[in-house]
Amino acid sequence: MLSFTFQYKLKPSQAQATQIDEWLEICCQVYNWNNCERKDWLRARKNDVNSCSLVKEYIIFPETKFPNYNVQAVNLTQAKKENPKLKKVQSQVLQSTLKRLDKAWTDFFEKKRKRGLPRYKQPNQFRSFIYPQIKESDFEGNKVRLPKIGWVKFKKSREFPVGLTPKQLRVVKKAVGYFIQIIFVNKEDVPDIMPGKTSLGIDAGISSFIATSDGELIEIPLFVKKAASKLQSLQRKLKHKIKGSNNWLKLQKRIAKLHFVVTSRRTDWLFKLAHKLCDRADNIFVENLDFRGWQKGLFGKQINNSAIGKFINQILPMVCFKRGVYYSKVDKNYTSQICPQCSTNTGKKSLSQRVHRCNCGVVMNRDIAAAKVIQQRGHNAVGHTVKEIACGGDATGVQLQLNLVSSR
Ligand SMILES: [Zn+2]
Repeated sequence: MLSFTFQYKLKPSQAQATQIDEWLEICCQVYNWNNCERKDWLRARKNDVNSCSLVKEYIIFPETKFPNYNVQAVNLTQAKKENPKLKKVQSQVLQSTLKRLDKAWTDFFEKKRKRGLPRYKQPNQFRSFIYPQIKESDFEGNKVRLPKIGWVKFKKSREFPVGLTPKQLRVVKKAVGYFIQIIFVNKEDVPDIMPGKTSLGIDAGISSFIATSDGELIEIPLFVKKAASKLQSLQRKLKHKIKGSNNWLKLQKRIAKLHFVVTSRRTDWLFKLAHKLCDRADNIFVENLDFRGWQKGLFGKQINNSAIGKFINQILPMVCFKRGVYYSKVDKNYTSQICPQCSTNTGKKSLSQRVHRCNCGVVMNRDIAAAKVIQQRGHNAVGHTVKEIACGGDATGVQLQLNLVSSR
């Protein structure tokens, strides 16, 4: 299923803002309490069979099952009867908080993204809650009906997407105010986009942000870089302040605001870039890279700043879909080694080596050479369909001419 997330600034009244804050606090408590329950169960299984710990002992009966989502959801209903505070929050919101915890534990068990044991959250770390079900009728002009909170105004900075229906809503508290993030999904199956004739290959560059197969190197614009470096200098200042002091808190707030500015500027630029790329070709091909690995490696800082993974895996496919451009990933192996002109493998390049040189006489920027290889791979993969379209057209054209000749 296809989904898009749209974010709008919420304009709650003073009373509504207080209510949202209170909900966040309760959700945070529910999260931590249930997290504790799971951790206790785990600890109780760690004790030695033949000895007791001198400090403390967790005693949970061996036949007690692990408190998974289903167990905790049932317990939550029970807890509501004893704790009236829990009733203030809509039940689905609380359930989705438990689901969030469950997700963190599943990631931990499956060792996804090298996640550790889920931590307890500080109230200021717990910034959002989710309404898992929201309907079209919950929106009216620039107002949204949040169950149990009521109609809340929001700034409708852009129209809702056409042909999609709202499914889920998340309320987020940020340094610059409250926001809603709405997930829209398609009502019925949308036909797949068919590949067209012209193709563009895109390589996540080493020296630049991206390189295209038609020979362009695209850099991160200066205004994004400047804001990012300003952010870094503020973060350095923070180290010299006493943690928790007034000045520390003030600076912390400034940093959070600047973070918001950097992210929104960058995202805006990335969307515009995606649209520009879509203007150029019918098909766009990218490398099948796992950018999560990159973040920890050598390019960490640069990749984090430029959000290349977000661009290649989220923004570009979304814009391509909207614009009817065919988007596909190709095999990533040896793209930086193979010559785009004669297809021989020129061997591994070191990071400092910025130019691709080949015995066949080709000399060009290494990232552009890689983008060309990606374009060729993609074009070959969809080649048969493209040819069919082209040949089909020709054949009928020839047929028509023959008919005309024979009829004469
Ligand atoms: Zn060559």
